[in-house]
Amino acid sequence: MARCYRNRKATADESCRLTMPYLRKRGLLSGQTTGKISWTSSMTGKKTAVGLTVDITTDDPCARLVYALTDKGGNKTDYDYKVSLTTTDCNFGGVRYWFGCPDCGRRVAVLYLALGDIYFRCRHCNNLSYHSRNESSPYGILGQTSREIDNLRGQIKRWTWRGRPTRKVRKLHALEQKVGIISSQAITHLNKLKA
Ligand SMILES: [Zn+2]
Repeated sequence: MARCYRNRKATADESCRLTMPYLRKRGLLSGQTTGKISWTSSMTGKKTAVGLTVDITTDDPCARLVYALTDKGGNKTDYDYKVSLTTTDCNFGGVRYWFGCPDCGRRVAVLYLALGDIYFRCRHCNNLSYHSRNESSPYGILGQTSREIDNLRGQIKRWTWRGRPTRKVRKLHALEQKVGIISSQAITHLNKLKA
C-alpha cells in the first residue's frame, strides 16, 4: 500500500530531513511498506519528493530511496539506492531502528538531503561536504575553526603544567587568534559586499 505525505517543511538550512521517528509514526517500520514523502523549500517553493520502500522482513533490512533531482542547468537525474537499517534493543522491550549513513556507515536517526547535494547523508557527512563547498569563504573557515575550538576546549583537562600553558591550551590560544584574524577578514568582506 502506498502512502503519501505532503508538505513537509524543509528545515531552516533547506535540507530535506528523513527521520526515524517520522517513519515509525507513519507506520513505515512494519513489514514491507511503501510511502512517499515530500518537502517544500520555504525559499524557492520547489518541491522534493522521495519514494520510500522499507523492508524489515529480511536479515538485511533496508530502505530504498527513489527520487529525481533537477540541477541548475535543468537536467533531471534519477536516484535509486538502498540505505541499510540496523536495530538496537530498547530498554522497555522492542527494538529501535537506525539508518546506516550511505556515506560513512554511521548509525544515525536522521539523514539529510542538503540543498545542492544529491544524496541523503548523516549530519557529520553533510558538514564535511558543506565546508568543502564553502572552503574559500571566510564564514566557512570561521565556522570550522569555531568547532575546532569547542572540540579542543572539551578535551582540555589541565590548563597549566609547571606554571606554563599546556600544549592543548597553546593550540587553543593559536586557534582563538586565528578566529580573530578571520573575523576581521569577514567584516572586511562584508563591508566590500555592502559597498
Ligand atoms: Zn555519514
